[in-house]
Amino acid sequence: MNRTPLIAGNWKMFKTGDEAVATAERLAELSRDVENTEIMIAPTFLSLPLVADAVKGTKIKTGAQNLFYENQGAYTGEVSGEMIKAAGAQYVIIGHSERRQYFMETDDSVNKKIKAAIEADLIPVLCIGETKTQRDEEKAFFILDKQLKDGLKGFHSDELKNLIIAYEPVWAIGTGLTATPDQVNEIHQFIRSVIRTIFEASFSDAVRILYGGSVKPDNVSGLMKLKDVDGALVGGASLDADTFIKIVKFN
Ligand code: PEP
Repeated sequence: MNRTPLIAGNWKMFKTGDEAVATAERLAELSRDVENTEIMIAPTFLSLPLVADAVKGTKIKTGAQNLFYENQGAYTGEVSGEMIKAAGAQYVIIGHSERRQYFMETDDSVNKKIKAAIEADLIPVLCIGETKTQRDEEKAFFILDKQLKDGLKGFHSDELKNLIIAYEPVWAIGTGLTATPDQVNEIHQFIRSVIRTIFEASFSDAVRILYGGSVKPDNVSGLMKLKDVDGALVGGASLDADTFIKIVKFN
């Protein structure tokens, strides 16, 4: 199955608008010769329209790092899918472990957010991953199965045709620890097999599964060689365009 790789950068709560635009412009310049790999960057909500504007007509697509599941209303501090779409984004990251950890995000809110993303015509990037304790207690497969089944509950595969899944072991995010290729391979195969139990085989064959967790220029090519790894979700190493482009050009 030929799945186009996606290399995505999660800029988290870094960069002012000016800094974000400067990095995006540099990345656009460095990625002019990139073929057959999709590139997405997710700046803060404040920088999103500025960055989306700056990369218009280039190889770079943009995404938000979160959304709220209602379209509008008295929800102080929240941003809807419609607003993100209007800002020029194509993607939205949903259920990142930092949101689960610090902002009480649950599989139930993740499910509602995926629905809201689809209604706003945004591509959801569903993040799942086990903590160190869960892995040590041999609960990783159980947790991932639950995050997938609860997060994707109630959808028909037609609605999710662009869905992206990001496997991000929580213990590997921002820690410098990367899951070994064997660990990543085992989990990505497992994720695809769970998707196959929820939807049809053709859907599970086509869905793109990214790996995230301390991806750097020197480990990306080993990860991208794995059959069920279709890209990377990159945090720290995406903040500098000259570093991130080395990940984008992984082969
Ligand atoms: C992330 O935030 O999604 C991530 C994977 O971070 P890092 O690459 O810094 O581990």
